[in-house]
Amino acid sequence: MTFVVDDVRLAHAPGERVSVACEGGRIVAVAPAGTMPDAGADTERIDGRGALALPGLIDAHAHIDKTLYSGRWVPNPGVGTVSERIAHERRERERFGLPSEQYISALVERMIANGTTRIRTHTDVDPGVGLRGIQTVARVAERYRDLVTIEQVAFPQGGLISNPGTLELLEEAVALGVPTIGGIDPAIVDRAPTVQLDALFDLAARTGCGIDIHLHEDGSLGAWEFEEIAARTIAHGLAGRVAISHAFGIAHPPTQQRLIERLAEAGVALVTAAVYDVPVPPLLALDAAGVPLACGSDGIRDLWGPFGNGDMLQRAMHVAYRNSVRTDEGLELALRAATSGAARVLGVPDYGLEVGCVADLVLVDARTAAEAVASVPPRRAVVSRGRLVAVDGALIAEA
Ligand SMILES: [Zn+2]
Repeated sequence: MTFVVDDVRLAHAPGERVSVACEGGRIVAVAPAGTMPDAGADTERIDGRGALALPGLIDAHAHIDKTLYSGRWVPNPGVGTVSERIAHERRERERFGLPSEQYISALVERMIANGTTRIRTHTDVDPGVGLRGIQTVARVAERYRDLVTIEQVAFPQGGLISNPGTLELLEEAVALGVPTIGGIDPAIVDRAPTVQLDALFDLAARTGCGIDIHLHEDGSLGAWEFEEIAARTIAHGLAGRVAISHAFGIAHPPTQQRLIERLAEAGVALVTAAVYDVPVPPLLALDAAGVPLACGSDGIRDLWGPFGNGDMLQRAMHVAYRNSVRTDEGLELALRAATSGAARVLGVPDYGLEVGCVADLVLVDARTAAEAVASVPPRRAVVSRGRLVAVDGALIAEA
């Protein structure tokens, strides 16, 4: 079956109207609108009516195992520090039936309808929940695999060194096929920064998995940890396989430029959620140095916080807004964090709107990519693997 998206505009040439033909899940032709004939009797077409076509959006940092999405409203007690929120979640998650396949599925459907076709999600792994979260998310990923790709990070939310048994569970998760391991605040959570980092890099070097570390630690402590991560990435030959999520330490002014250069040299990527009033990586400086930046939702409607809707166009807007950018160039860079930049961070092959790429497209009412980020228009249509899966913000495809 050939699927043709007629009369859309692409961000690099917004003045031209084209048709995009998809077959076997890939883009097979891009031609001026009105010149693309049916490939056969089973050709299906939709009329894009001049909408802007973006590649499928990527949520590079989610925690879908934690979500309460679609469940009843749960007032947040407003607990303060990261450590207090971790403890709060540990106490309460069983009571709320987490991880819940029902809540995760509802959230994944919302994310797809919003135009997300790939998700990297950090799933809690600890001796309490064991690998139940990994298995629950894997079941949801399998069910929706024709609509969205969900890849997991085995995430030691409650600490790696300070929570005995967690490292062994991470290794088990990798043996089950989880491609990436996480870390968390090696100083404040584990009180053993080099021990945690050594354990993570040793596991990655032995198994070939990637690393994506949560670093909320900022100031000179965070900056020092950046150096430690960069050094280990180089020593283990893991360039392109290591990311630092949240990365508050990058905002430490005395060392910022030196750290950016170090990340570029080591091949370490950054991932931000641009939430609340926490530091956000500097878009323009990272781009100038060639450090890839991705963005993600972080937690959505969970025991950590009440916000989130799985809309990556809105998340790109937050990245732009928190960077105080006003130019089209800045807005386009922010969109890249939810599209091609995220694809680079996650190592997604064949990403984009050229012939040969996987046929994931989102149609929005905007004249340029910059306008799409600034105005966050509704998603008119979502095409995943060359199939129409959502229209006007509602899922139409069966999982
Ligand atoms: Zn996170």
